[in-house]
Amino acid sequence: MVILMDVVYRHKCAACFQQFKRKEHLVVHMKISHHSVHQPKCGVCHKYCKSFESLREHISGPLAKAHCSSVFAQKGCHVCLNVFESPVSLGEHKGLCLLTIPTPLGTTNIPYTEYEALEDESYVGKCPEAVAIDCQMVGGGSDGSLDLLARVCLVDEDEKMIFHTYVKPQISVTNYRYELTGLTEEHLRDAMPLREVREKISRILFNGESIGKARLDGGKAKLLVGHNLDSKLDCLLMSYPEQLLRDTAIYPPLMKTNFASHSLKYLTKTYLGYDIRLGTYDTFQDCVSVMRLYKRMCAQQHQEGKIGASFSHDTKQNHTFADQTSQDLENMSPDELFQISEPNYKCWCLDSRPRDLLDIGAYELNGILKNHNVC
Ligand SMILES: [Zn+2]
Ligand SMILES: [Zn+2]
Ligand SMILES: [Zn+2]
Ligand SMILES: [Zn+2]
Repeated sequence: MVILMDVVYRHKCAACFQQFKRKEHLVVHMKISHHSVHQPKCGVCHKYCKSFESLREHISGPLAKAHCSSVFAQKGCHVCLNVFESPVSLGEHKGLCLLTIPTPLGTTNIPYTEYEALEDESYVGKCPEAVAIDCQMVGGGSDGSLDLLARVCLVDEDEKMIFHTYVKPQISVTNYRYELTGLTEEHLRDAMPLREVREKISRILFNGESIGKARLDGGKAKLLVGHNLDSKLDCLLMSYPEQLLRDTAIYPPLMKTNFASHSLKYLTKTYLGYDIRLGTYDTFQDCVSVMRLYKRMCAQQHQEGKIGASFSHDTKQNHTFADQTSQDLENMSPDELFQISEPNYKCWCLDSRPRDLLDIGAYELNGILKNHNVC
């Protein structure tokens, strides 16, 4: 009977530890799970999870693994979910991990800011720079429910505001949504026309790069960071190459376990440790917060080349599931299967590596790059 149990449960996924009665079921699991070394990992048992939320459940939820949760309770950080050597090193870490809320920009004076960035001619294979965007809307239409762009803010990676303006609404405003926006008619009276706003933002983002090159491999164009970027680009009536977008609403590690989006307020509270949007929404606070979330994800240190596929040259060339016959796959060990497993999203930690070291073509093959028209 004991032997039978051993036989029955011997096919264990090397990444998430799920067990299967038949090897072919493990093979199917590996094909559809897209496990990789870029997934959030338990610092105690080294299980890989599909999102930080599933890792949080594993490590501190009501059904948490007993050993992992007791170690985490003593030496784990509730914000980044990393586990430290000792409670002392955890204490030191928390001072850096828990951030304080950025000073609000407010609406009392009416600032227009534009930072004239110099184009970087020396760009060759450097890491791409990121710019975060936030937009504020007021209401149009008979019931005030139509979103009209009223304010835009851009910050750079150092949290410096590089562009801010109020935007002249294209149709009349029927609800300024004052309690949320703090905006009145006065703010928008002499505001910048949408077309001019769009041109200025495009100039900052493309950074002197041609549209063709930006769409191909980015070139010196900037990464655009934001929460719900599609809706922000829609309200600006502009588009930007898909592979240069970094959207915290649809980045798998930051999504709910059912892959629905979290709000920016939730993500900021959970992953940065402070509350935004307690009264009016402050566009600068939102913008800085989304940049901080992006940078925190970029700073993840994921090992590559040992286990789990990566997008780097050496692991990419030879093996994928498609290259193997089903018999070959069934003969592979769980570790070997993990080695050829490919992520179905591009981990943001790869943004902190020079672009020319990455196999950008791999994303195209995987259908992750979608060509979007650039206006
Ligand atoms: Zn698994
Ligand atoms: Zn990664
Ligand atoms: Zn664990
Ligand atoms: Zn932490």
